[in-house]
Amino acid sequence: MEDKKVALITGGSRGIGKACALELAKAGCDVIINYAGNEEAANKTVEELKALGSNAKAIKFDVSNQELVENAIKQIIDEYKKIDILVNNAGITRDGLFMRMSAQNWLDVINTNLNSAYYVSNPVAKIMIKQRSGVIINMASISGIYGNAGQANYSTAKAGLIGMTKALAKELASRNIRVNAVAPGFIQTDMTKDLPQEQIIERIPLKRLGEPEDIAKTVKFLALDTTYITGQVIGVDGGLVI
Ligand code: NAP
Repeated sequence: MEDKKVALITGGSRGIGKACALELAKAGCDVIINYAGNEEAANKTVEELKALGSNAKAIKFDVSNQELVENAIKQIIDEYKKIDILVNNAGITRDGLFMRMSAQNWLDVINTNLNSAYYVSNPVAKIMIKQRSGVIINMASISGIYGNAGQANYSTAKAGLIGMTKALAKELASRNIRVNAVAPGFIQTDMTKDLPQEQIIERIPLKRLGEPEDIAKTVKFLALDTTYITGQVIGVDGGLVI
């Protein structure tokens, strides 16, 4: 029997990351989810993953702390021996008009949404290079493509992730590692629950917010169903152009 694929999903305990974890578990992967602090949500997700037959585990670490990330990757390799799929999904918002944006809110978003992708992908790419195979998927956003007023920090981080996706795709292709980004529009999660939903829906051609599962299906497609897509940014946004 072929070895089960091992997937690491940062911020996999809630929202989009959780839906990705469940979708990959349904497809037969062993899934490691990372989270920042909400242990209850993480434990619940692990139970759901195990019920799907996944050898699942939750690991708490702050993706914006390089030392903690490196220790966690070592721990994962000791236990699982490989990482086939990495989804850089953990992210936060600290929205506000640029003129009033504090340096802390700028740095928190850049560190958690962008620098984290370096901290996690760098050791994982080394492992994938040795394996001569792997898939990296970065969770970007339409804000990183079009820019969004009130989200200069977030748009910058997500645009950076897209640049990283395209550069890494070229660098790692010869080692059989594919790197793509998914750019969600407005998806129904804790991150968007306080936004004015009716006003947003008016602007979405498909007339609904996305569900986390809409993103998860795309992640599963990029991770497991395709073999010839790399360096792409797939918009999953109901047709919205912001
Ligand atoms: P969410 O529901 O707020 O979940 C965020 C997840 O990230 C949680 O698992 C959280 O862990 C984890 N996390 C946050 N900061 C972390 C840190 N420093 N270290 C480790 N884990 C951390 O968010 P979501 O809406 O699912 O968003 C997931 C990704 O999609 C983000 O990158 C976001 O920018 C992107 N995105 C979302 C939307 C949308 O409309 N929702 C649109 C475009 C892009 P805890 O549970 O422990 O806090």
